[in-house]
Amino acid sequence: MNLAKFPRVSLAHLPTPLEPMPRLSALLDGPELWIKRDDCTGLSTGGNKTRKLEFLMAEALEQGADIVLTQGATQSNHARQTAAAAAKLGLDCHLLLEDRTGYNHKNYRFNGNVLLDHLHGATIEYRGPDLDMHAEMVAVADKFAADGRKPYVIPGGGSNPTGALGYVNCALEMINQFVTTGLDVDHIVHATGSAGTQAGLITGLCAMNANTPLLGIGVRAPKPKQEENVYNLAVATCEKLGCPGVVDRADVVANTDYVGEGYGIPSPAALEAIDLFARYEAILLDPVYSAKGAAGLIDLIRNGHFKKGERIVFLHTGGAIGLTGYTHVLPFGE
Ligand SMILES: *Cc1c(COP(=O)(O)O)cnc(C)c1O
Repeated sequence: MNLAKFPRVSLAHLPTPLEPMPRLSALLDGPELWIKRDDCTGLSTGGNKTRKLEFLMAEALEQGADIVLTQGATQSNHARQTAAAAAKLGLDCHLLLEDRTGYNHKNYRFNGNVLLDHLHGATIEYRGPDLDMHAEMVAVADKFAADGRKPYVIPGGGSNPTGALGYVNCALEMINQFVTTGLDVDHIVHATGSAGTQAGLITGLCAMNANTPLLGIGVRAPKPKQEENVYNLAVATCEKLGCPGVVDRADVVANTDYVGEGYGIPSPAALEAIDLFARYEAILLDPVYSAKGAAGLIDLIRNGHFKKGERIVFLHTGGAIGLTGYTHVLPFGE
């Protein structure tokens, strides 16, 4: 596998830090907890999509695009990082944002990620729930092309084999950090949604024969669907990298017990995770992804699945700016 042969633009502050969480570890009285700070990738408050965009935006530039399109939920971190990357590279950005929650609070609709989308100069169209958002986006891209523009379409979450290369790179970066700091890691845990993060990570881990189990905590789809999405994307990513067959179906593990009421609706356990990470480690989780991932981690420690004597790395995928879009669910007033 040779990651360097793929076009890439530098957008992220790398490597992101790998830090211990001693106060949270002591509180939960279970495994030793570490955190990989992909909330610190830097671009417009950071997050995991920035690593994917290093490869996706390079492809857009290579194809001569003058406008990038992508889609996501109203408070999409991916849409915001795409808008920021486009601004930095001098491309236009057009976003389709889907109402997946029915939330009507003004902060949800205009603050958080939406505020930053506007600041980066993106143009935005809104859509109701239950549409085929990818088809909607392709139809809009066709209109731009008919007007003589050169659109580049980025799938939701930046999750295709090109975007997943960003998380192959993260796997290599983590393995290097584990080796240089002598950290023997038993599990890596993170929130999984559109599957690119987990697919890229498992591809990199398996290609390096790291033997470190990876657990994705789901935020939307049921377990069979989530694992199938991750596996299919991992297979395609391995093909692209020239290492077909290194990921087995059994390497792909998702736990979807922590979705709660649905995508983008914080559960009580997610709100507790936000509270504990903020008060014990001064780390800000986001209400849609990392808080549900952390809620899963905390519950799996409390129920004895993860044990004392083990070492766990929680990959923080970012998104805390979304907290300001979710003030209506936080216990501090409007
Ligand atoms: C998109 C996102 C995820 C999920 O990553 P996928 O690659 O879509 O599975 C996790 N956390 C945050 C904060 C995100 O924005």
